[in-house]
Amino acid sequence: MTLTIPFDNSYARLPGAFYARQSPEPVRAPRLVALNDDLARVLGISPGDAQDMAQVFAGNTLPDGAEPLAQLYSGHQFGNYNPQLGDGRAVLLGEVVGTDGIRRDIQLKGSGRTPFSRQGDGRAWLGPVLREYVVSEAMHALGIPTTRALAAVETGEVVLREGPMPGAVLTRVAQSHLRVGTFQVFAARGQIADLRRLTDYAIERHYPEAIGPMGLLRAVRDAQAELIAQWMAVGFIHGVMNTDNCAISGETIDYGPCAFMDSYHPNTVYSSIDRMGRYAYSNQPEIAVWNLAQLATALIQQIEDKQAAVEEATEIVHAMPELMQQHWLRRFRAKIGLTTEEDGDRALISDLLTRMAQNQADFTNTFRALGSDAARDQFTDPAAFDGWAEGWRARLTREADPAAVMHAANPAFIPRNHRVEQMIQAAVQGDYAPFHRLNAVLARPYDDQPDAADLMRPPAQDEVVHATFCG
Ligand code: AMP
Ligand code: MG
Ligand code: MG
Repeated sequence: MTLTIPFDNSYARLPGAFYARQSPEPVRAPRLVALNDDLARVLGISPGDAQDMAQVFAGNTLPDGAEPLAQLYSGHQFGNYNPQLGDGRAVLLGEVVGTDGIRRDIQLKGSGRTPFSRQGDGRAWLGPVLREYVVSEAMHALGIPTTRALAAVETGEVVLREGPMPGAVLTRVAQSHLRVGTFQVFAARGQIADLRRLTDYAIERHYPEAIGPMGLLRAVRDAQAELIAQWMAVGFIHGVMNTDNCAISGETIDYGPCAFMDSYHPNTVYSSIDRMGRYAYSNQPEIAVWNLAQLATALIQQIEDKQAAVEEATEIVHAMPELMQQHWLRRFRAKIGLTTEEDGDRALISDLLTRMAQNQADFTNTFRALGSDAARDQFTDPAAFDGWAEGWRARLTREADPAAVMHAANPAFIPRNHRVEQMIQAAVQGDYAPFHRLNAVLARPYDDQPDAADLMRPPAQDEVVHATFCG
């Protein structure tokens, strides 16, 4: 049976300046290692047989209706503007409108060189492909806006990284791949007609109620503010919040050296390339504002009355920290069982976090265990928890059902780094059992799953992952 995908490609109808037409480069011996049936169903894709799907999701066969292209964008990488990035190892096959009415991109990542590859080989190795598969699907199950993983194939080819690694291609699904950097490239080049076209396209596709460039800016701000608060609430560290990795849709995108924190500390960094800690856990809200300011700068270029635009954009960007604080506070209130609002709540939450940092408390397990005795065991000095819990319990007397609120706000399961690493090592050896098990457990992160207690455990001393790498 052949795989059919009901493509309807709006991006390919935009001016040629937005992309380069580019077919994926065929690979030697594709083998399908993962298919996301639930997502395929939402997309209206009727799966074919495994060999047929392997050919399609490796880029060897183009399904009917695909119009492959590499998107152009630029962006600030660690604060420095790079005038041209673009899809260097990805092609957009096209878009589908799902059974839920939502339009989504279907992109192959690791599908070979494009005009934007620069020195890169256009490929990905199995580790980062499976990592993105597991982590993006886990984020989705946690209720956090994100790109998703539709399929993974091994290519049967070797990719050179630290050593020879098995090659792979990820099929990624996103509400779009428009980034802050997509706007920056046209603004920086003075291609104002293209910038206007892109702005209209983004509004129509993502925020039809928004009016004009500043309306778009406001909508992106609101989506990003909510997103970053959600990251903070689960201890997620993106790792590379460059403006080219910041999606206009408000979805988490470009999973590279991302990680979930084990023991809590605000300065936590995992990414091996983030030497200055620019993208540390607690810096994420500030960086999100910085990225929004870059979007504002780009959008303004198309407005005649620059002075009025600058004033409006400044007001929009300056309101973002407070907005994120509100989302943060609402989410962390829920994490400690609060639905009502009192003046001391922020201080109560901060006090807990300070004590957690001082006592190497596991972020996920501390919150999940708050209602039980197990919480104090997370602290090197359990008395530090007791000292906080007294005031907290007094506060809880004014709440109706804090246990249920906490259960719904505090996941039991996150994709812990050491488990992701172990899963990758097994897959490289041909054992996909840990990959499938991780996916199955992480699909229900808020459920108690006694059989998976081992996946709740923080890493043992010799399991700790100190650095994560790009693919
Ligand atoms: P990233 O930081 O991974 O999101 O990528 C930044 C830029 O580098 C993007 O333009 C990517 O397409 C490009 N890139 C990353 N890895 C490769 C690769 N192996 N080959 C070609 N381009 C790449
Ligand atoms: Mg072109
Ligand atoms: Mg990127």
